[in-house]
Amino acid sequence: MSRIRGIEARAQKEVLQTRAHESNIVTIKKKNEDQSSKSKDEVEKQQIRELLHKLPKLDKIFEVHRKIGEGTFSSVYLGSLRQHSALSAADKRWFAIKHLVPTAHPARIEHELRCLQDMGGQDNVIGVDLCLRNFDTIVFIMPYIPHRKFSEYVGEMDAAELRRYMRALMVALRRVHSFGVIHRDVKPSNFLYDRENQRYLLVDFGLAQRLVTIPPLAAPSAPAPAPAAPAAPADPAPAPAAPAPAPAAPAPPPAHCNGTRKRARTEEEAQTEAKRMALDLRVGARGPPLPAPAAASPSPSPTPSPAAPALPPIKKPAWCSCAGAGGVCARCTALVAARAPRAGTQGFRPPEVLLKCVHQTTAVDMWASGVVLASILTARYPFFRAGDDVAALAELADLLGTRALQRAAASLGRRLVMSSSRRGVCLRKLCARLRGAVPPAPPAPPPTAAPPAPPARCERCHQLTTLCLCRDDPDQPETEVPGRVTAGFPDSAFALAWRLLDPNPRTRISADDALQHPFLADT
Ligand code: ADP
Ligand code: MG
Ligand code: ZN
Repeated sequence: MSRIRGIEARAQKEVLQTRAHESNIVTIKKKNEDQSSKSKDEVEKQQIRELLHKLPKLDKIFEVHRKIGEGTFSSVYLGSLRQHSALSAADKRWFAIKHLVPTAHPARIEHELRCLQDMGGQDNVIGVDLCLRNFDTIVFIMPYIPHRKFSEYVGEMDAAELRRYMRALMVALRRVHSFGVIHRDVKPSNFLYDRENQRYLLVDFGLAQRLVTIPPLAAPSAPAPAPAAPAAPADPAPAPAAPAPAPAAPAPPPAHCNGTRKRARTEEEAQTEAKRMALDLRVGARGPPLPAPAAASPSPSPTPSPAAPALPPIKKPAWCSCAGAGGVCARCTALVAARAPRAGTQGFRPPEVLLKCVHQTTAVDMWASGVVLASILTARYPFFRAGDDVAALAELADLLGTRALQRAAASLGRRLVMSSSRRGVCLRKLCARLRGAVPPAPPAPPPTAAPPAPPARCERCHQLTTLCLCRDDPDQPETEVPGRVTAGFPDSAFALAWRLLDPNPRTRISADDALQHPFLADT
């Protein structure tokens, strides 16, 4: 009897729970409908009211005017001092108020704040004026810089403007890197550009990571690059054993992430995941304050020199024969997936991140700057569009050539097997094509002349020479012709792009060296 009563009571409880659940769904649906019927403006005003309600101190000091930006982990508002309310807009001091999502981990927030405090406020790196907190509501108050969307001016920049822009970015990165920090999310929406006043700010240290120093290895030797074969694009073998970091190195906040994906993800989802994985959130992972940069000026970049030793060759098990077989064998599938930092944004990740190399350096940011430069040169944004890491590697092979990418992979202890071979694309020709600067066809011969010769074609791709994008020699850097200008850009701009887009992080140019590069050094 009591059992039956018990069941009845449980059934009643379940009915009540179901009803409550249904009514919750109805409430949420209604709320959603109400929200969508409200204008975007009203929604933003409501968000501002809620923020001020949760953080009365903010309301006391600042007037919050409107939302000016939204990222994966924050909403950013425009603010001004209450005590300046009587002043004209021109006389007010303006602030960007970054409200971090309450679900952000305290360690991540602390690390972002520390980056802003220790490195910010000079050399085009954002600083912080104030941080306010009430329970889980946290805001950073930072100087505001007016800026437009990158896509609105990417096609308008000329060589002089591009030079100033890239210089400013390199100056910012030189500062960040001199602290032994990798920004990890260099991209146009994190490098704000006030075009009217020629001001620049590198923002968003939400993914920043301290550098891990790698002790030199005894006798490094890189494996031979794998021949192109119709097989899986990346080698499934495990990462080589990671050498222990030097004891003096600051505790890194590595961005470990499981590389296996159950389904295709949108860029936003991928970013969310990347951001979430940005910091090692173990209690012990909190490092000491960031070390001050070396006193020497210009500050030395911690990017390993080209002479840095290669990682040990990957140990491919002798019994595996899946490479080139059009699939991954059961034994390889059973191996533990490599885990490496991959925080960042799709389209800006360098080969070492896509190849899951454990030891990543400030060269990660240099690659991302190269993508920004390529974007401006070709007036295309986004420049890379792949939705996942494998497609991203294929895109890199298209641009850089299969061999160059395989060589870089080999020097990182990875074997890259690709189903087809690519020669790579000439960035200068791509720029000319995409910017419509293709040289005009030769003038038509006089009517009495002999039958016209067929239009010239490239011997390699068999396209009309005016359409060919082939690189002269896929194994050599692109030929630089002094004085040559393509769509307004000198050859040195393309040469710098190639140095930034060097697939090998060990030889990729550092921010400090980029500032000495002819494109940026020439005034
Ligand atoms: P998230 O970590 O969420 O990406 P960000 O710090 O990148 O946050 O800020 C998101 C956006 O807010 C930026 O892309 C930019 O448009 C705007 N923003 C951030 N900081 C400033 C600032 N100091 N001045 C002007 N706008 C800013
Ligand atoms: Mg951002
Ligand atoms: Zn060609």
